[in-house]
Amino acid sequence: MAHRVTLIPGDGIGPEVAAAARLVLDAADVGIEWIERHAGTAALDDHGELMPEETLRAIRDSRVALKGPITTPVGTGFRSVNVALRQGLDLFGAVRPARALPGVPIRHPSVDLVVVRENTEDLYAGIEFERGSSEAAALREELRTLGGYELREDAGITVKPISVSGTRRIVRFAFEYARANGRKQITVGHKAPVMRYSDGLFLRTAQQESRAYPDIGWDEVQIDHLTSRLASRPAEFDVLLLPNLYGDIISDLCAGLVGGLGLIPGANIGWEYAVFEPVHGSAPDIAGQGKANPIAMILSGAMMLRHLGQQTAAENVGWAVDEVLARGEIRTPDLGGSSTTMQVAEEVATQVTAWEHSPS
Ligand code: ATP
Repeated sequence: MAHRVTLIPGDGIGPEVAAAARLVLDAADVGIEWIERHAGTAALDDHGELMPEETLRAIRDSRVALKGPITTPVGTGFRSVNVALRQGLDLFGAVRPARALPGVPIRHPSVDLVVVRENTEDLYAGIEFERGSSEAAALREELRTLGGYELREDAGITVKPISVSGTRRIVRFAFEYARANGRKQITVGHKAPVMRYSDGLFLRTAQQESRAYPDIGWDEVQIDHLTSRLASRPAEFDVLLLPNLYGDIISDLCAGLVGGLGLIPGANIGWEYAVFEPVHGSAPDIAGQGKANPIAMILSGAMMLRHLGQQTAAENVGWAVDEVLARGEIRTPDLGGSSTTMQVAEEVATQVTAWEHSPS
């Protein structure tokens, strides 16, 4: 086998969309050896842990994983298994392309943008102090001494660290991504006038780094203004570069722009490892019913193929998805159809094979 890949089916609709993506990627026939491991509630039952060491070891061994969505049950001590995984493997950059797909009616048909999200810092860093805890009281006291800040006694506190080093690497990553993928313009989203030492630092560092890439356009927009422009004129944007929290929110907004969460793939990339996963969560409301749209997971698989150097196979899978959507006969209920997850996958797999065998 040419490529070892850890497959983590995940929770909720995860196993359904993972099986669908596997079917399509096997049809692409690039020699993937799947190492299936569990995380999330599936792992809790078998291993007593949400993120078992053997799953992490498998990802470190194979370096590449395809992962379904994972739910973090409340009261398990984990804030988010997904965040822990990104931080644990230092997957500092998330890439989430939002492209208008054929046959999916949307308000702005020429949207083709990519969200690049910083994945390890910001309000997602997990530095939190519970309301009423002795730690929160001590921090309140410290803040009063340090800067005369008066926080209400009943306040919970989440800290927002953003570093120069953490920003530099994501900015460089965004520019390198733009160059490698023929993108022309990067727009950074921020709220620097209000959060001068976190967003302000992100913006200033990004400005400095951007000078090394004179071939790529550069623009800066405050995050509130960015949401309004995205809602009215999304086709103006090419690559959006965002700190962690804004990146999370704007990714879902972009999913809405191009037809819903069932269509948006994602990649989490670090220096050593890469984990590919759809932007959507585990969608418990439709789990186990065969209704989930597998396209986000299949396209995450296509991003993985590109990462593995299988450019032609990646294009092939993307083309097959476009073809099935354009024909419009086989689609899941979120796109107004009545087909099942597996019917969509089988049709995409058939197109993948047809394309492979057609004369070029
Ligand atoms: P999370 O907190 O992990 O983001 P969530 O429950 O807030 O999870 P999602 O699970 O991403 O959000 O999805 C929100 C809703 O969108 C789901 O309840 C479901 O109805 C719909 N949805 C998400 N993914 C899909 C999909 N692949 N196919 C069809 N519908 C989907």
